[in-house]
Amino acid sequence: MRRRFDPVALHPETAAVRVAVPRSPYGENAEALYLTSGYVQPSAEAAAARFAGDEDGYTYGRYGNPTTASFEQRLAALEGTEAAIATSSGMAAILMLALGLLQAGDHVVCSRSMFGATIKLIGSDLAKFGVQATFVPQTDLDAWRAAVTPRTRLLLAETPTNPLTEVCDIAALADIAHAAGAWLAVDNCFATPALQRPAEFGADVVIHSGTKFLDGQGRVMAGALCAPRALVEEKFLPVLRSAGMTLAPFNAWVVLKGLETLHLRLRAQSATALALAQWLQAHPAVARVHYPGLPGHPQHALAMRQQGGCGGAIVAFEVKATSPEEGRARAFAVLDALRLASLSTNLGDTKTLCSHPASTSHGRLTEAQRQAAGISQALIRVSVGLEHLDDLTADLARGLDALV
Ligand SMILES: *Cc1c(COP(=O)(O)O)cnc(C)c1O
Repeated sequence: MRRRFDPVALHPETAAVRVAVPRSPYGENAEALYLTSGYVQPSAEAAAARFAGDEDGYTYGRYGNPTTASFEQRLAALEGTEAAIATSSGMAAILMLALGLLQAGDHVVCSRSMFGATIKLIGSDLAKFGVQATFVPQTDLDAWRAAVTPRTRLLLAETPTNPLTEVCDIAALADIAHAAGAWLAVDNCFATPALQRPAEFGADVVIHSGTKFLDGQGRVMAGALCAPRALVEEKFLPVLRSAGMTLAPFNAWVVLKGLETLHLRLRAQSATALALAQWLQAHPAVARVHYPGLPGHPQHALAMRQQGGCGGAIVAFEVKATSPEEGRARAFAVLDALRLASLSTNLGDTKTLCSHPASTSHGRLTEAQRQAAGISQALIRVSVGLEHLDDLTADLARGLDALV
Protein backbone atom coordinates (compact mmCIF):
# COMPACT_ATOMS: atom_id res chain seq x y z
CA MET A 1 0.00 0.00 0.00
CA ARG A 2 1.51 3.31 -1.05
CA ARG A 3 1.89 6.04 1.57
CA ARG A 4 0.77 9.59 0.99
CA PHE A 5 3.67 11.07 2.95
CA ASP A 6 7.26 10.29 3.72
CA PRO A 7 6.76 9.88 7.49
CA VAL A 8 10.42 10.60 8.22
CA ALA A 9 10.01 14.10 6.80
CA LEU A 10 7.10 14.93 9.12
CA HIS A 11 7.35 16.13 12.71
CA PRO A 12 5.92 13.54 15.12
CA GLU A 13 2.92 15.75 16.03
CA THR A 14 2.06 15.95 12.32
CA ALA A 15 2.63 12.26 11.66
CA ALA A 16 0.33 11.47 14.60
CA VAL A 17 -2.67 13.03 12.84
CA ARG A 18 -1.75 12.55 9.16
CA VAL A 19 0.00 9.22 8.46
CA ALA A 20 -2.56 6.65 7.26
CA VAL A 21 -3.46 4.60 4.21
CA PRO A 22 -4.94 6.64 1.29
CA ARG A 23 -8.52 7.90 1.63
CA SER A 24 -11.26 5.80 0.09
CA PRO A 25 -13.01 7.15 -3.06
CA TYR A 26 -15.60 8.74 -0.71
CA GLY A 27 -13.02 11.24 0.59
CA GLU A 28 -13.63 10.77 4.31
CA ASN A 29 -11.54 13.15 6.44
CA ALA A 30 -11.46 10.93 9.54
CA GLU A 31 -9.80 7.59 8.78
CA ALA A 32 -12.28 4.93 7.65
CA LEU A 33 -13.09 1.93 9.82
CA TYR A 34 -13.05 -1.11 7.54
CA LEU A 35 -15.04 -3.86 9.23
CA THR A 36 -14.56 -6.85 6.96
CA SER A 37 -13.06 -10.28 7.44
CA GLY A 38 -12.47 -10.99 3.75
CA TYR A 39 -11.70 -9.10 0.53
CA VAL A 40 -13.05 -9.51 -3.00
CA GLN A 41 -10.25 -10.22 -5.48
CA PRO A 42 -10.17 -8.47 -8.88
CA SER A 43 -9.18 -11.68 -10.71
CA ALA A 44 -8.02 -15.21 -10.02
CA GLU A 45 -4.57 -14.21 -11.26
CA ALA A 46 -4.43 -11.27 -8.81
CA ALA A 47 -5.60 -13.50 -5.96
CA ALA A 48 -2.81 -15.96 -6.70
CA ALA A 49 -0.21 -13.18 -6.84
CA ARG A 50 -1.46 -11.66 -3.58
CA PHE A 51 -1.41 -14.95 -1.72
CA ALA A 52 2.10 -15.64 -3.02
CA GLY A 53 3.19 -12.22 -1.74
CA ASP A 54 4.12 -11.04 -5.26
CA GLU A 55 1.49 -8.30 -5.34
CA ASP A 56 0.18 -5.84 -2.72
CA GLY A 57 -3.46 -6.30 -1.79
CA TYR A 58 -5.63 -7.53 1.04
CA THR A 59 -6.72 -11.16 1.08
CA TYR A 60 -8.02 -12.13 4.51
CA GLY A 61 -8.63 -10.37 7.83
CA ARG A 62 -6.13 -12.38 9.84
CA TYR A 63 -3.31 -11.15 7.56
CA GLY A 64 -4.18 -7.49 7.27
CA ASN A 65 -6.75 -4.71 7.18
CA PRO A 66 -6.52 -1.10 5.89
CA THR A 67 -7.57 0.43 9.24
CA THR A 68 -4.97 -1.67 11.04
CA ALA A 69 -2.41 -0.68 8.40
CA SER A 70 -3.11 2.99 9.15
CA PHE A 71 -2.40 2.35 12.85
CA GLU A 72 0.79 0.44 11.98
CA GLN A 73 2.09 3.13 9.63
CA ARG A 74 1.30 5.92 12.07
CA LEU A 75 2.94 4.14 15.03
CA ALA A 76 6.03 3.29 12.96
CA ALA A 77 6.29 6.95 11.93
CA LEU A 78 6.12 8.00 15.59
CA GLU A 79 8.73 5.44 16.70
CA GLY A 80 10.97 6.22 13.73
CA THR A 81 11.05 2.60 12.57
CA GLU A 82 10.52 1.38 9.00
CA ALA A 83 7.48 -0.70 9.91
CA ALA A 84 5.16 -1.88 12.65
CA ILE A 85 2.87 -4.85 13.07
CA ALA A 86 -0.25 -4.68 15.23
CA THR A 87 -1.39 -7.39 17.65
CA SER A 88 -4.48 -8.05 19.75
CA SER A 89 -2.76 -7.03 23.03
CA GLY A 90 0.63 -6.09 24.43
CA MET A 91 1.25 -9.66 25.59
CA ALA A 92 0.37 -10.94 22.10
CA ALA A 93 3.10 -8.63 20.76
CA ILE A 94 5.64 -10.14 23.17
CA LEU A 95 4.52 -13.65 22.19
CA MET A 96 4.94 -12.68 18.52
CA LEU A 97 8.44 -11.36 19.32
CA ALA A 98 9.39 -14.67 20.95
CA LEU A 99 7.84 -16.89 18.25
CA GLY A 100 9.40 -14.80 15.51
CA LEU A 101 12.95 -14.50 16.85
CA LEU A 102 13.60 -17.53 19.07
CA GLN A 103 13.91 -21.29 18.79
CA ALA A 104 14.77 -24.18 21.11
CA GLY A 105 18.28 -23.82 22.49
CA ASP A 106 18.24 -20.00 22.34
CA HIS A 107 18.89 -17.84 25.38
CA VAL A 108 17.29 -14.54 26.44
CA VAL A 109 18.62 -11.96 28.88
CA CYS A 110 15.72 -10.11 30.46
CA SER A 111 15.41 -7.36 33.05
CA ARG A 112 13.96 -8.78 36.26
CA SER A 113 11.80 -5.65 36.57
CA MET A 114 9.79 -6.40 33.40
CA PHE A 115 5.97 -6.48 33.45
CA GLY A 116 4.87 -9.56 35.46
CA ALA A 117 3.20 -11.39 32.56
CA THR A 118 6.33 -10.85 30.44
CA ILE A 119 8.48 -12.51 33.13
CA LYS A 120 6.01 -15.41 33.25
CA LEU A 121 5.96 -15.77 29.45
CA ILE A 122 9.74 -15.56 29.00
CA GLY A 123 10.73 -17.41 32.17
CA SER A 124 8.13 -20.22 32.33
CA ASP A 125 6.09 -20.58 29.14
CA LEU A 126 9.07 -20.39 26.76
CA ALA A 127 11.10 -22.75 28.97
CA LYS A 128 8.64 -25.48 27.94
CA PHE A 129 9.88 -25.02 24.37
CA GLY A 130 13.58 -25.08 25.24
CA VAL A 131 14.26 -21.33 25.41
CA GLN A 132 16.38 -20.41 28.44
CA ALA A 133 16.26 -17.03 30.17
CA THR A 134 18.45 -15.18 32.67
CA PHE A 135 16.91 -12.33 34.66
CA VAL A 136 19.19 -9.45 35.63
CA PRO A 137 18.85 -6.23 37.66
CA GLN A 138 17.46 -3.54 35.35
CA THR A 139 20.16 -0.91 35.94
CA ASP A 140 23.29 -3.10 36.36
CA LEU A 141 25.06 -3.10 32.96
CA ASP A 142 27.77 -5.48 34.22
CA ALA A 143 25.09 -8.01 35.12
CA TRP A 144 23.61 -7.76 31.59
CA ARG A 145 27.10 -8.25 30.07
CA ALA A 146 27.89 -11.20 32.35
CA ALA A 147 24.60 -12.94 31.55
CA VAL A 148 25.24 -13.05 27.78
CA THR A 149 26.19 -16.52 26.48
CA PRO A 150 27.08 -17.72 22.96
CA ARG A 151 23.42 -18.81 22.67
CA THR A 152 21.97 -15.39 23.58
CA ARG A 153 19.70 -14.14 20.79
CA LEU A 154 17.64 -11.48 22.55
CA LEU A 155 17.98 -8.84 25.26
CA LEU A 156 14.66 -7.63 26.64
CA ALA A 157 14.15 -4.49 28.72
CA GLU A 158 11.42 -2.05 29.71
CA THR A 159 12.12 1.56 30.66
CA PRO A 160 10.88 3.11 32.86
CA THR A 161 9.69 0.02 34.71
CA ASN A 162 6.46 -0.70 36.50
CA PRO A 163 5.93 0.36 39.29
CA LEU A 164 9.34 1.63 40.52
CA THR A 165 10.21 3.65 37.38
CA GLU A 166 13.75 2.24 37.08
CA VAL A 167 15.41 3.55 33.92
CA CYS A 168 17.93 1.56 31.86
CA ASP A 169 20.44 2.88 29.36
CA ILE A 170 19.04 1.77 25.97
CA ALA A 171 22.17 2.70 23.98
CA ALA A 172 24.42 0.74 26.35
CA LEU A 173 22.13 -2.32 26.18
CA ALA A 174 22.07 -2.08 22.36
CA ASP A 175 25.88 -2.17 22.33
CA ILE A 176 25.92 -5.27 24.56
CA ALA A 177 23.28 -6.99 22.39
CA HIS A 178 24.91 -6.16 19.07
CA ALA A 179 28.40 -7.17 20.26
CA ALA A 180 26.88 -10.59 21.01
CA GLY A 181 25.03 -10.79 17.69
CA ALA A 182 21.72 -10.54 19.54
CA TRP A 183 18.67 -8.28 19.17
CA LEU A 184 17.57 -5.69 21.73
CA ALA A 185 13.82 -5.32 22.24
CA VAL A 186 12.52 -2.49 24.44
CA ASP A 187 9.00 -2.27 25.88
CA ASN A 188 8.14 1.43 25.42
CA CYS A 189 4.75 1.24 27.12
CA PHE A 190 5.49 3.77 29.89
CA ALA A 191 7.28 6.53 27.98
CA THR A 192 5.64 6.05 24.53
CA PRO A 193 7.19 7.59 21.39
CA ALA A 194 5.93 10.98 22.58
CA LEU A 195 8.79 10.99 25.12
CA GLN A 196 11.23 8.27 24.06
CA ARG A 197 12.11 6.56 20.77
CA PRO A 198 14.16 3.44 21.65
CA ALA A 199 15.11 2.80 17.99
CA GLU A 200 17.06 6.09 18.01
CA PHE A 201 19.22 4.63 20.79
CA GLY A 202 19.80 1.36 18.93
CA ALA A 203 16.88 -0.89 19.95
CA ASP A 204 16.01 -3.33 17.16
CA VAL A 205 12.40 -3.90 18.20
CA VAL A 206 10.07 -1.57 20.13
CA ILE A 207 7.23 -3.30 21.99
CA HIS A 208 3.88 -1.67 22.74
CA SER A 209 0.84 -2.37 24.78
CA GLY A 210 -1.57 -0.13 22.89
CA THR A 211 -4.00 -0.73 25.74
CA LYS A 212 -2.20 1.88 27.83
CA PHE A 213 -1.14 5.36 26.68
CA LEU A 214 -1.55 4.80 22.90
CA ASP A 215 -5.31 4.42 23.29
CA GLY A 216 -4.91 6.60 26.34
CA GLN A 217 -8.59 6.59 27.23
CA GLY A 218 -8.93 3.09 28.65
CA ARG A 219 -11.19 1.68 25.93
CA VAL A 220 -9.59 -1.22 24.03
CA MET A 221 -6.84 -3.83 24.16
CA ALA A 222 -4.11 -3.54 21.53
CA GLY A 223 -0.41 -4.15 20.98
CA ALA A 224 2.33 -3.77 18.39
CA LEU A 225 5.95 -4.42 17.47
CA CYS A 226 7.88 -1.65 15.69
CA ALA A 227 10.98 -2.79 13.78
CA PRO A 228 12.91 -2.67 10.50
CA ARG A 229 10.79 -3.77 7.53
CA ALA A 230 12.85 -6.96 7.05
CA LEU A 231 12.15 -8.13 10.61
CA VAL A 232 8.45 -7.34 10.31
CA GLU A 233 8.04 -9.05 6.95
CA GLU A 234 10.33 -12.04 7.44
CA LYS A 235 9.99 -12.78 11.18
CA PHE A 236 6.72 -11.35 12.52
CA LEU A 237 4.22 -11.39 9.63
CA PRO A 238 4.57 -15.19 9.21
CA VAL A 239 3.75 -15.58 12.94
CA LEU A 240 0.67 -13.37 12.56
CA ARG A 241 -0.52 -15.44 9.60
CA SER A 242 -0.17 -18.78 11.39
CA ALA A 243 -0.82 -17.83 15.03
CA GLY A 244 -3.54 -15.22 14.50
CA MET A 245 -2.90 -12.62 17.23
CA THR A 246 -4.52 -10.10 14.86
CA LEU A 247 -5.71 -6.72 16.13
CA ALA A 248 -9.45 -6.24 15.53
CA PRO A 249 -10.09 -3.37 13.05
CA PHE A 250 -12.36 -1.53 15.48
CA ASN A 251 -9.67 -1.60 18.17
CA ALA A 252 -7.09 -0.50 15.60
CA TRP A 253 -9.30 2.46 14.69
CA VAL A 254 -9.72 3.47 18.36
CA VAL A 255 -5.96 3.35 19.00
CA LEU A 256 -5.25 5.11 15.70
CA LYS A 257 -7.39 8.03 16.86
CA GLY A 258 -5.78 7.82 20.31
CA LEU A 259 -2.37 8.43 18.72
CA GLU A 260 -3.59 11.82 17.46
CA THR A 261 -3.51 13.26 20.98
CA LEU A 262 -0.59 11.21 22.35
CA HIS A 263 1.91 14.09 22.50
CA LEU A 264 -0.55 16.49 24.11
CA ARG A 265 -1.65 13.92 26.68
CA LEU A 266 1.83 12.69 27.60
CA ARG A 267 3.24 16.18 28.03
CA ALA A 268 0.28 17.30 30.15
CA GLN A 269 0.13 14.11 32.23
CA SER A 270 3.90 14.19 32.70
CA ALA A 271 3.80 17.81 33.92
CA THR A 272 1.04 16.98 36.43
CA ALA A 273 2.95 13.85 37.50
CA LEU A 274 6.07 15.92 38.25
CA ALA A 275 4.07 18.39 40.34
CA LEU A 276 2.31 15.55 42.14
CA ALA A 277 5.65 13.81 42.82
CA GLN A 278 7.00 17.05 44.34
CA TRP A 279 3.88 17.43 46.47
CA LEU A 280 4.10 13.81 47.67
CA GLN A 281 7.78 14.22 48.51
CA ALA A 282 6.93 17.11 50.82
CA HIS A 283 4.11 15.25 52.60
CA PRO A 284 4.99 14.12 56.15
CA ALA A 285 3.22 10.73 55.75
CA VAL A 286 5.27 9.81 52.64
CA ALA A 287 8.56 7.95 53.08
CA ARG A 288 9.76 7.83 49.47
CA VAL A 289 8.70 8.87 45.97
CA HIS A 290 9.80 7.05 42.80
CA TYR A 291 9.67 9.34 39.78
CA PRO A 292 12.36 9.81 37.09
CA GLY A 293 11.61 13.53 36.85
CA LEU A 294 12.79 14.16 40.43
CA PRO A 295 16.49 15.07 40.77
CA GLY A 296 16.80 12.48 43.58
CA HIS A 297 15.85 9.58 41.26
CA PRO A 298 18.92 7.29 40.83
CA GLN A 299 18.77 7.54 37.00
CA HIS A 300 17.42 11.09 36.77
CA ALA A 301 20.09 12.39 34.33
CA LEU A 302 19.77 9.35 32.05
CA ALA A 303 15.97 9.57 32.12
CA MET A 304 16.02 13.25 31.14
CA ARG A 305 18.38 12.48 28.23
CA GLN A 306 16.45 9.47 27.01
CA GLN A 307 12.90 10.74 27.62
CA GLY A 308 13.08 14.22 26.13
CA GLY A 309 13.32 15.93 29.52
CA CYS A 310 10.07 14.38 30.82
CA GLY A 311 9.57 11.97 33.70
CA GLY A 312 6.42 10.33 32.30
CA ALA A 313 2.96 9.95 33.81
CA ILE A 314 3.61 7.21 36.39
CA VAL A 315 4.52 8.03 39.99
CA ALA A 316 4.98 5.51 42.79
CA PHE A 317 5.33 6.33 46.49
CA GLU A 318 5.66 4.60 49.84
CA VAL A 319 3.77 5.68 52.93
CA LYS A 320 5.72 5.76 56.20
CA ALA A 321 5.34 2.56 58.22
CA THR A 322 7.30 0.52 60.76
CA SER A 323 6.36 -2.96 59.47
CA PRO A 324 5.02 -4.57 56.26
CA GLU A 325 1.66 -5.14 58.00
CA GLU A 326 1.41 -1.49 58.97
CA GLY A 327 2.56 -0.45 55.49
CA ARG A 328 -0.20 -2.47 53.86
CA ALA A 329 -2.86 -1.15 56.26
CA ARG A 330 -1.75 2.47 55.72
CA ALA A 331 -1.54 2.11 51.92
CA PHE A 332 -5.03 0.55 51.91
CA ALA A 333 -6.31 3.45 54.06
CA VAL A 334 -5.00 6.00 51.53
CA LEU A 335 -6.53 4.07 48.61
CA ASP A 336 -9.88 3.59 50.35
CA ALA A 337 -10.09 7.32 51.10
CA LEU A 338 -9.95 8.22 47.38
CA ARG A 339 -13.13 9.69 45.95
CA LEU A 340 -11.83 10.99 42.60
CA ALA A 341 -8.92 8.81 41.44
CA SER A 342 -9.99 5.32 40.35
CA LEU A 343 -8.81 2.27 42.27
CA SER A 344 -7.65 0.33 39.20
CA THR A 345 -4.61 -1.69 38.14
CA ASN A 346 -4.75 -0.40 34.55
CA LEU A 347 -2.57 2.54 33.57
CA GLY A 348 -2.24 5.16 30.86
CA ASP A 349 -5.79 6.55 31.06
CA THR A 350 -6.94 10.17 31.00
CA LYS A 351 -8.45 9.33 34.41
CA THR A 352 -5.96 9.02 37.28
CA LEU A 353 -5.67 5.41 38.44
CA CYS A 354 -4.21 4.26 41.76
CA SER A 355 -3.19 0.74 42.73
CA HIS A 356 -1.44 -1.31 45.43
CA PRO A 357 1.10 -3.38 43.43
CA ALA A 358 2.04 -5.76 46.29
CA SER A 359 -1.51 -7.17 46.53
CA THR A 360 -2.55 -6.90 42.85
CA SER A 361 -0.15 -6.79 39.88
CA HIS A 362 2.67 -8.29 41.99
CA GLY A 363 0.42 -10.30 44.32
CA ARG A 364 1.53 -13.69 42.99
CA LEU A 365 5.15 -13.17 44.10
CA THR A 366 6.31 -14.41 47.50
CA GLU A 367 7.11 -11.71 50.09
CA ALA A 368 10.86 -12.47 49.60
CA GLN A 369 10.58 -12.05 45.79
CA ARG A 370 8.62 -8.85 46.29
CA GLN A 371 11.23 -7.43 48.64
CA ALA A 372 14.01 -8.36 46.17
CA ALA A 373 12.07 -6.48 43.51
CA GLY A 374 11.62 -3.50 45.86
CA ILE A 375 7.80 -3.73 45.88
CA SER A 376 6.96 -2.98 49.50
CA GLN A 377 3.55 -3.33 51.14
CA ALA A 378 3.60 0.44 51.68
CA LEU A 379 3.89 1.20 47.93
CA ILE A 380 1.12 2.92 45.93
CA ARG A 381 1.30 3.45 42.15
CA VAL A 382 -0.39 6.43 40.54
CA SER A 383 -0.99 6.62 36.78
CA VAL A 384 -1.59 10.34 36.46
CA GLY A 385 -4.43 11.44 34.19
CA LEU A 386 -5.65 14.79 32.92
CA GLU A 387 -7.45 16.02 36.04
CA HIS A 388 -6.35 19.31 37.67
CA LEU A 389 -3.41 18.88 40.05
CA ASP A 390 -5.25 20.51 42.96
CA ASP A 391 -8.10 18.00 42.73
CA LEU A 392 -5.62 15.11 42.75
CA THR A 393 -3.63 16.40 45.74
CA ALA A 394 -6.89 17.07 47.63
CA ASP A 395 -7.97 13.50 46.91
CA LEU A 396 -4.69 11.97 48.13
CA ALA A 397 -4.44 14.36 51.08
CA ARG A 398 -7.68 12.96 52.52
CA GLY A 399 -6.02 9.62 53.25
CA LEU A 400 -2.44 10.84 53.77
CA ASP A 401 -3.30 13.64 56.24
CA ALA A 402 -5.08 11.09 58.45
CA LEU A 403 -1.83 9.13 58.80
CA VAL A 404 0.17 12.02 60.26
C1 LIG B 1 0.13 -3.76 30.23
C2 LIG B 1 1.53 -3.99 29.84
C3 LIG B 1 1.87 -5.03 28.96
C4 LIG B 1 0.83 -6.00 28.43
O1 LIG B 1 -0.08 -5.36 27.62
P1 LIG B 1 -1.60 -5.90 27.44
O2 LIG B 1 -2.13 -4.99 26.40
O3 LIG B 1 -2.26 -5.80 28.77
O4 LIG B 1 -1.48 -7.32 26.99
C5 LIG B 1 3.19 -5.19 28.61
N1 LIG B 1 4.15 -4.37 29.10
C6 LIG B 1 3.86 -3.37 29.94
C7 LIG B 1 4.96 -2.51 30.43
C8 LIG B 1 2.56 -3.14 30.35
O5 LIG B 1 2.28 -2.15 31.22
